[in-house]
Amino acid sequence: MESITILGATGSIGTSTLEVIARHSTRYRLHALTGRRRIELLAEQCVNFRPARAVVPDGVAAARLRQLVGTLPLQIDCGPEALCEVAEEAQIVMAAIVGAAGLPSVLAAVRRGRRVLLANKEALVMGGQFFVDAVNAHGATLLPIDSEHNAIFQCMPRGRDASMAADGVDRIVLTASGGPFRQLTQEKLAHVTPDEACAHPNWVMGRKISVDSATMMNKGLELIEARWLFDVPADRIDVLIHPQSVIHSMVSYVDGSVIAQLGNPDMRTPIAHALAYPERIEAGVRPLDLAQIATLQFETPDLQRFPCLRLAREALSSGGSSAAILNAANEVAVEAFLTGTIGFLAIARTVEATLNALSAETPRSIDHLFEIDAAARRQAHREMESLR
Ligand code: NAD
Ligand code: MG
Repeated sequence: MESITILGATGSIGTSTLEVIARHSTRYRLHALTGRRRIELLAEQCVNFRPARAVVPDGVAAARLRQLVGTLPLQIDCGPEALCEVAEEAQIVMAAIVGAAGLPSVLAAVRRGRRVLLANKEALVMGGQFFVDAVNAHGATLLPIDSEHNAIFQCMPRGRDASMAADGVDRIVLTASGGPFRQLTQEKLAHVTPDEACAHPNWVMGRKISVDSATMMNKGLELIEARWLFDVPADRIDVLIHPQSVIHSMVSYVDGSVIAQLGNPDMRTPIAHALAYPERIEAGVRPLDLAQIATLQFETPDLQRFPCLRLAREALSSGGSSAAILNAANEVAVEAFLTGTIGFLAIARTVEATLNALSAETPRSIDHLFEIDAAARRQAHREMESLR
């Protein structure tokens, strides 16, 4: 049996991961589950899956969890160090915390050479070269959970070991649903609400990634993620709008072949793929019925209405800490949008103004990365003030 830690077990990816694991209970043993706010759900998960350890943010949450699980044998700890510990201890780590907050625990798993299932794209966007160097130095196995990157991985002859030149890869095509506002005019975009932004047409996800999908910053983050995961220059990565979310991404080859990965939009597919890789296990996903879907549509993204995609490309070509700045400013702006402090269009404006105000550096360490992140967050708050 392989041991697994789920960082962010109470979220959308975390609960889908537990659904897949429940189908293969003789194959995987839960080492640890972690959660931040939904302690009742975490308690239920601990009772059902019997992990050895659980990690919550603070003493109050720890006491509440203990009260809910009663005498269940479970070591309960709190704080960021405990998150790193449980990430180091398991053979497989599902990194499903949202945002930069997930970086230290993912890096802890990477530095122990673990098999890391990466959902937390912000960690790779923030870490960039620094993250990739750690993966290579410690011989960790990095398997993408993001559906597009998992699709690309499946379409590459040797997964992350593929090289563009040696394997004849020409371009990578990242597909994008276009989000809930794909057809809205600029005037209408100015007035959309957080709940409208979180009502994604094809996927049910956490609120932060839902807003990112609505601004298309999600695709921008994924562009940066693809650059690092597959060592592909940004100018060889295209973004294609595909509203049905059936083709999860494609790889085109120098001989004119295009290999695509298809499936119903259900995160249990990439989760099961990465859990068992190179084997295949059943995931509980409905079979794809193309005759019923009948039509697959494609269109080019509109960078005027969705400037976040352009900003991510620019940050990638500026290099250094630009992507970390973009990510931090975006996290601050999305949070402000979700709490009603700024409007939808101010998200991109805040990110752009923050990127313009700060100059890029080369991150030297994780502490340095978090200094860059903190400075970008402070700047983003100032920019939001002046936009108001
Ligand atoms: P979510 O909001 O549903 O869940 C986030 C999880 O992280 C929760 O368990 C929460 O308790 C935990 N968490 C949040 N902040 C934390 C903090 N500061 N410290 C410790 N734990 C914290 O989010 P999600 O939709 O499951 O997304 C998780 C990650 O996976 C994100 O990076 C997202 O971009 C990526 N992802 C999600 C999907 C999807 O379909 N949901 C698809 C692709 C990629
Ligand atoms: Mg994705």
